[in-house]
Amino acid sequence: MSVSTGMAERPPAQRKSKKPTGLFIPELVFFEPNALNYPKGERIMEWVKAQGIPYRMTTSHNRITNLPGETETEQYKIAKRTLVVGVRKTLTFDQSKPSADYAIPIATGCMGHCHYCYLQTTLGAKPYIRVYVNTDEVINAAKKYIEAQAPGITTFEAACTSDPLGLEHITGSLAELITFMAQEPLGRLRFVTKYQHVEPLLGLKHNGHTRIRFSINADYVIRNFEPATSRFEERIEAAGKVAKAGYPLGFIIAPIIWHDGWEEGYSELLAKLAAALPQGTGNGLTFEMIQHRFTKTAKSLIEKRYPKSKLEMDMEKRKMKWGRWGQYKYVYPDEQQTALREWITERIFEHFPEARIDYFT
Ligand code: SF4
Repeated sequence: MSVSTGMAERPPAQRKSKKPTGLFIPELVFFEPNALNYPKGERIMEWVKAQGIPYRMTTSHNRITNLPGETETEQYKIAKRTLVVGVRKTLTFDQSKPSADYAIPIATGCMGHCHYCYLQTTLGAKPYIRVYVNTDEVINAAKKYIEAQAPGITTFEAACTSDPLGLEHITGSLAELITFMAQEPLGRLRFVTKYQHVEPLLGLKHNGHTRIRFSINADYVIRNFEPATSRFEERIEAAGKVAKAGYPLGFIIAPIIWHDGWEEGYSELLAKLAAALPQGTGNGLTFEMIQHRFTKTAKSLIEKRYPKSKLEMDMEKRKMKWGRWGQYKYVYPDEQQTALREWITERIFEHFPEARIDYFT
């Protein structure tokens, strides 16, 4: 990434370097004045000052208009390294099927540069990273959802609009949610990540109520489409630590991409995973599988933001499916879907006979 405002250390280049992937340090931070009335807002401000990161005040975390950068592409890159600290006003949670009942909002936006990421379209002109300081209010809202669904279990997904683990060193929000959910007999938390920075979560009391999932993929996909995330080996090492700390563990294979040599690619992935995970990790392990999809809007944005991307988005080769965002999405034709699903399912059970597959979509 080439961003020019920086005073702070930036993570090393992701694919070639074997150095550990660094923690995300924003290059510019905006604060809503009201955010500083919350202890978390104050704490983040102290951290920003200690890091020497430039900061500005803003009236609303939804209206950041004066980002540096000459062109739209430059502004997009800068936005991905800009943090906005605000108060979450909407405390009505969106649904989050098929992964959970509700999306629990602690952050919006991500520092990763995955070419296929759906946040490119869902966040539209606001790709900067927003974190919310009023976690207590979010937790109170979650409690009401749990009570409303009792005696059933209510599940919450914390990674619908962000990769919250990549921001945990700044916010501590996941730790708060995990600790809260540990005391809720009918509440469950889950989140997915492409980062390895699990240390702050390992010593927490979680009571097995939080499932941590790692997003994994064939080497071809990680190498070509997931810049600015942790390497596969780093994610797997973190998965081992999470399992050792007693958390329920899962993997999301997403997006599953049809590419030359995909059979070997996904076979290798599962074999490498089985070889790298500590023994006994297979018990209670879950897998989720999501095939690659795109909309017309996503295609044009991706072509603009990542013009050299090898991501295949040929509408002629895809099947149209009506999406809940009021747009057609393009998925693989049935025959390809079946081939991908069956092949990967077999490889999963070959290496992890005790695992459960939650869904393929
Ligand atoms: S890490 Fe996840 S949320 Fe972040 S850009 Fe990649 S796919 Fe999107």
